[in-house]
Amino acid sequence: MLPLRGCEFEQQEISDIREIIKNQRLIVFFQPVISVSRKMVSGLEGLIRGINPHTNQTISPIRLFDAALKEGLTLELDRVCRDKVIEAFSYIYHQNKEKLLFINVDASILDKVEGSNYLIHQVETYKINPRNIVIEINETKVQDNTALKRFADTYRQFGFMVALDDVGTGFSNMDRILLVKPNIIKIDISLVRNIQNDYYKQGVFKSLVNLSNKIGAIVIAEGVETEEEAIQILRLGGHMIQGYFFGKPQGVYNGSHIFINNRIEPLTERFNEYMHNKIREERKREKQLNMIVNSSIKELVTVSCEKFDNKLLQIIWANKIIECAYILDEYGIQLSNTIRICDKNEVKENLIFYSAKMGTDHSMEKYYYPLISASLKKYVTEPYVSLATGNLCITISKVFTNVDNKKYILCMDFNNTSDSALELMKDITTSDMGIGISNKSITEINQIIDKMNEEIIKDSLTNTFNRRYLEERLLVDLFNSSDKKQPISIILVDIDHFKKVNDNYGHLAGDYVLKEFVKIAKYNIRSGLDWIARYGGEEFLIVLLNSDENIAYTVAEKVRKAIENAEFQYNEDTIRITASLGTYTIDSKRMTCEQLIDHADRNLYRAKNSGRNKTIGLENWL
Ligand code: GH3
Ligand code: MG
Ligand code: MG
Repeated sequence: MLPLRGCEFEQQEISDIREIIKNQRLIVFFQPVISVSRKMVSGLEGLIRGINPHTNQTISPIRLFDAALKEGLTLELDRVCRDKVIEAFSYIYHQNKEKLLFINVDASILDKVEGSNYLIHQVETYKINPRNIVIEINETKVQDNTALKRFADTYRQFGFMVALDDVGTGFSNMDRILLVKPNIIKIDISLVRNIQNDYYKQGVFKSLVNLSNKIGAIVIAEGVETEEEAIQILRLGGHMIQGYFFGKPQGVYNGSHIFINNRIEPLTERFNEYMHNKIREERKREKQLNMIVNSSIKELVTVSCEKFDNKLLQIIWANKIIECAYILDEYGIQLSNTIRICDKNEVKENLIFYSAKMGTDHSMEKYYYPLISASLKKYVTEPYVSLATGNLCITISKVFTNVDNKKYILCMDFNNTSDSALELMKDITTSDMGIGISNKSITEINQIIDKMNEEIIKDSLTNTFNRRYLEERLLVDLFNSSDKKQPISIILVDIDHFKKVNDNYGHLAGDYVLKEFVKIAKYNIRSGLDWIARYGGEEFLIVLLNSDENIAYTVAEKVRKAIENAEFQYNEDTIRITASLGTYTIDSKRMTCEQLIDHADRNLYRAKNSGRNKTIGLENWL
């Protein structure tokens, strides 16, 4: 048979929908609504599928109601659907009078439903207490707020509960919720999907929960599919959960039903475990932030205000998680620049990115006035999106008095991962982030942090700084030397024909030579002032502070000769190597790290090309 088309198809649909309604060709599906805290299936949402009179295939409710709308049969279809659902539920209800039934009422016929007593009559027919019935109204389809409110008020008087369905998708949810004061808010699947990875969804969900708590409504999250989503919903204060994670809608025939759910118990355990870890992590972080702020203040009190920028830079460089920092005077006026080390790829032409400028008035900011008006020593904001960076952050502000006996306020912004943000918010708003929660002493924690920091920045083979550290540290040194108007030099060293060392003596011998090479290089630079980092395989970068090109060349030559003369004894073998070096020096002019290294690299390349075992600096190739 050829498929039906156009008008023919419509004709068919019309006669189909009439037949479906007339003969009640509908089957009921129930999907469980779970209360995790009470560890039970609290209720069932009744869902309907039509049965095609010709093919016996099922038809989705959307298509059914579309067809009914075209025929002006919405009310009729709505009634038979409810009939079917209430009848199927009655079997369950009479075995367990605690269960709730969630039924959908089409928003377009609210007036008609309200005007008749049909729904009340249906419920009475099956001897069901209206208190067990939740009427779900699709929030997004409601056009007339006052009609919705009237409907809700009327049915509540009869004992029904009213739920707003699909909340979180439209625009005007908040005021509508306040107006209608539903008993239940069902949050839409679009807000729930992957909520664990989305701070904004978490924020919206959380504020819907807060609002619901204020009006005494229950929050149900719909469409939960994974354990991660379920855990987030619980963490954010959602009361009940519905979705494939707990069960797909089950077809119900002749009152048969199975709604035992074996997912609730494991979820409870996983949730407790999750919260336990979360709280531990948050406390750790709380402490870490406090320590950073406190130790920064220890540094800042020792200098007078014109040195603040420089100190802040050092502090920020040493603490990755500080987004930026700045200092206000006691009137809230910004005294320092906003110091933050920019991402290498972010602002190429500037070494340091300044956001709020010196002189900016912060006296209206939440991290300023509580310190003054409430005489707090420290204030921690809720997470917010930083205008300077676009990242989610919190600001901690703390009062201090420096050597000149003047009062200042240190403000530090910290990155906040989406995951920890809300936990922090909760903790901070109820406390002053007090220390002393965990049982480790500050000295112990300091030691652990020092050790971790050490591991992050070191190359494990040669015990020199690694590439990551190199880029951050060089940036700070560049900033400082430009600030102090001092020259700074770098030397890029590459071992000559190092491949041959590996080939002739083996990789372990090569490793040994690298380690010994570093010792020699370190011996020839000023310890504590100059530093060396591994730039690549057998390539190293030496940084000489406050050193001009002559010093750079002299030091490079010293290193080169020491290497040339060294004998590396590995097992039975005596290994000798040479190295090529390129130096580059800048004075007060600004240059990015990449530009600087690039210049030195060109000189190194020249050294290689002119026979190796050489130093090339500015003066000897021009
Ligand atoms: P050139 O004089 O042109 O620099 O020659 P080269 O052989 O030193 O340079 P090339 O870049 O061709 O090879 C570098 C070699 O260094 C190859 C690589 O296997 C070796 N290498 C890099 N890192 C390590 C390491 O950690 N241990 C050992 N044993 N060898 C390494
Ligand atoms: Mg080499
Ligand atoms: Mg090389």
